[in-house]
Amino acid sequence: MNKGALLVISGPSGAGKSSIVRELLKQIPNAAFSVSTTTRQKREDEVDGVNYHFTDKKSFQKDIDEGAFLEWANVHGNFYGTSLKQIAKLLDEGKLVILDIDVQGYMILKEKLERFTTAVFLTTKSREDLKTRLLLRQSDSEEAIEQRLENAFEEMAYINRYEYLVINDDFKTALAQMLNIAHAASNKRTLTDADKFIEAWAKSLK
Ligand code: 5GP
Repeated sequence: MNKGALLVISGPSGAGKSSIVRELLKQIPNAAFSVSTTTRQKREDEVDGVNYHFTDKKSFQKDIDEGAFLEWANVHGNFYGTSLKQIAKLLDEGKLVILDIDVQGYMILKEKLERFTTAVFLTTKSREDLKTRLLLRQSDSEEAIEQRLENAFEEMAYINRYEYLVINDDFKTALAQMLNIAHAASNKRTLTDADKFIEAWAKSLK
């Protein structure tokens, strides 16, 4: 009992997931980030091993073949995967594990570890807003931005599969909502084996 929990955050790229995750990690002492592996090029402000484990296609394929990923997906033409070992370790340490993964990854995770998982879809209030943010971010080429905007529309179709929806219009408000959800995620009833708990609870009478 009282092992960890998983908090999945998905949503279009540019919706502000990374900034929200950074704040959650600062404000929740028990939180840990699931550092994904990716074949995407490292951005200037990113650190290998902190934001992602950057790798090439050959090593990524090797990891797939060896069953190293809990889930993996091709997103915007690059591969991204969640390490099974890392998740198992963090859950065992009782952490609230935060995963920034796409909708395809969440669908797989839901199949495998639903009882540990709370899932939030984070997005902007409009498509126009998303475009402005992607342009302001200046971290992607024009072509990449176009592709991300195109994919965003497809990702939005998955909103119904998530338990929570947070609209990142005002950052402070969105963060407060995310903090509430993160705290609730650690108390999810399904984290507990109810039968065992009831048995111990009943036996405790002196
Ligand atoms: P970015 O390239 O902007 O860092 O991320 C692009 C997309 O890949 C985001 O939607 C992010 O949530 C997703 N992503 C990052 N890591 C993983 C992962 O391990 N698995 C899956 N399925 N998606 C991921």
